[in-house]
Amino acid sequence: MSELIGADFRPSKIVCVGRNYVDHARELGNEVPKAPLLFLKAPSAFVPNGEPILIPEQSQQVEHEAELGIVIAERCTGLQDTDDVKRYIKGFTCVNDVTARDIQRSDVQFTRAKSFDTFCPIGPHIVAELNVEDIGVICRVNGEVRQSGRTSQMVFSPAFLIRYISRQMTLMQGDVIATGTPAGVSKLNPGDVCEVEIEGIGVLSNPVFPAKD
Ligand code: ZN
Repeated sequence: MSELIGADFRPSKIVCVGRNYVDHARELGNEVPKAPLLFLKAPSAFVPNGEPILIPEQSQQVEHEAELGIVIAERCTGLQDTDDVKRYIKGFTCVNDVTARDIQRSDVQFTRAKSFDTFCPIGPHIVAELNVEDIGVICRVNGEVRQSGRTSQMVFSPAFLIRYISRQMTLMQGDVIATGTPAGVSKLNPGDVCEVEIEGIGVLSNPVFPAKD
């Protein structure tokens, strides 16, 4: 059972998890966090499958981050370790957590680097029933594999993340959790086509354009 994600998809927030794969934390010179490192992407950054990622003139280093996305089924708050999370999961999808790496480094705060318009492709659809314990997360640029990880390499599992995040902020119906990216992030250039493929979900494909011609 799957549901298409269209241009009218409007999560109230997109909660992201940083450094949730050991090898990606290390490739950027970071330690693996003891608790999930959370940040938000502006919902206005969302674009559906097929729409362009625009490279803003403020950045010289825009990178892809292939991630498993969790779409929330109903309002949830304050979940404890023993609470079942299944009823709160509408399904799973692909997310590209596009990041202006140079701005992320210079600003320290992640807000601007993660939230330029078009920096959050999500889709192509939501798959309701999926065992996400050990599935492949891949990113290809122009057909060449740049990232290839498995969800079993996550530091914090999807169920752990839902419970943890629900204790920091109430999750609303339609909210998206982006669960972190495996190693292999690399620069995107105008003219590229960036694909995020997750086993059992499908391919999220977006061309890359300059913000201005
Ligand atoms: Zn990310």
